[in-house]
Amino acid sequence: MTEPKDPNPSNDEEEFDPLTDREDEAADDTVRLALHTKILIGLGVGAILGIGANTFSASNPAINEKVMWIAKYVSDPLGQVFLRMLFMVVVPLVFASLALGVAQLGDLKKLGRIGLKVMLYFLLVSAIAVMIGLSLVNTIRPGVGFSPEIQSQLMETFGKEAEQKGELAKSDQAFGVNTFVNIVPRNPIDAAAKTDMLAVIFFALVFGIALTLIPREKSEHVQKLLDGVGEVIIKIVGFAMQLAPFAVAALIFSTTARFGWGVLRSLLWYAICVLAGLAIHQFVVYSILVKIFARLNPLEFFRRITPVMITAFSTSSSNATLPTSIKAAEEELGVPPQIAGFVLPLGATMNMNGTALFEGVTCVFIAQVFGIHLGIGEQLVVVLLSVLMAVGAAGVPGGSIPLLMIVLSTIGVPPGGIAIILGVDRILDMSRTVPNVTGDLTCACFIARSEGVELMTSQAKG
Ligand code: ASP
Repeated sequence: MTEPKDPNPSNDEEEFDPLTDREDEAADDTVRLALHTKILIGLGVGAILGIGANTFSASNPAINEKVMWIAKYVSDPLGQVFLRMLFMVVVPLVFASLALGVAQLGDLKKLGRIGLKVMLYFLLVSAIAVMIGLSLVNTIRPGVGFSPEIQSQLMETFGKEAEQKGELAKSDQAFGVNTFVNIVPRNPIDAAAKTDMLAVIFFALVFGIALTLIPREKSEHVQKLLDGVGEVIIKIVGFAMQLAPFAVAALIFSTTARFGWGVLRSLLWYAICVLAGLAIHQFVVYSILVKIFARLNPLEFFRRITPVMITAFSTSSSNATLPTSIKAAEEELGVPPQIAGFVLPLGATMNMNGTALFEGVTCVFIAQVFGIHLGIGEQLVVVLLSVLMAVGAAGVPGGSIPLLMIVLSTIGVPPGGIAIILGVDRILDMSRTVPNVTGDLTCACFIARSEGVELMTSQAKG
């Protein structure tokens, strides 16, 4: 959220500017690279310890008790503190960066043009993702001939959890005309308090537009304030990221130590469909998009956004990853702050390609398990609804599950069937969050490029 650099800084202004201070930049880079490596090590250590603990505790109740104690009293709290520090800044960050992004884009025509490109990109790329998923699930057909014993065992184990999610789906997410009316908040503070991100986004957009329409001498102060708020938040995220290597290890430990690997075995082909689809979208589709639309080297692109991908994987949350992705977009990819500030907060809430793919695969898989045939018409409905639901899903762990149940019931598949996949959802959730945030970054690069910006140049590190 740095203001554009003054090309002719006056000599008498001895203001400290980290972008022009080469020595500091180098030092900062070393610290950041080290942190990034530390986070990666944390991920590996957490996974090894978690899987090891899971394996040993499977046959030994005494060890199992100790592992669960460590997960409950050590790794969960550490992971939660980290997650909460990131969630803590999401609402002010989305508001400040969107309102400022809109205001700095300046004229409304430009805003409209960029807004239209962003929305088209979100919808089209999400639709591509669902179609990849549907091709895989219709070819591999993991739910055909699924063992009825395993099915009833899973329904019994996860049925209660599915019921709770169903209540959530009924209570506040029923899809209809009110879904759109509710995007306009009655009270923005209330929307913020409930982390109703679509409503917060709406308020921020209107606020930013209004800022461009009032006299400059008045809007200037507000813009400076918003810019300052953005800077403060990035600092707070910096504090949280110091915790990241340990917190990521803790989060991954908690997940893998508790994970039902046995459940994964019985759902292996379904999980393969989702993971293969996500991998194709992440590494093939995005590489092509980044190459064609942003004219970037895909390998270099992925290298520079590695910390964002790790944060997404370990937190399972697009919202929690937003501060890291704004930082990477501006500092690593060279996306101008007003474009990053506009595209990324919108993307974190509305653009979830991985989630859309997961929803498509899961709908067809559960229909296959129940022996319900979905014709081409129904599958098209699945594509449409998966894209829409991915827009509405909250960027938090498991945020898409209640909406997925709505899609299931719309196409005539029992929504309670979601219980079949809940046991493996955590690992799929971590995995789908990676393309969710990568998709926002590819979009930011595409928009910047289409507006004539040279990416990954001088201010980008590399
Ligand atoms: N965890 C996902 C995200 O935050 C949402 C979901 O698919 O459940 O992007």
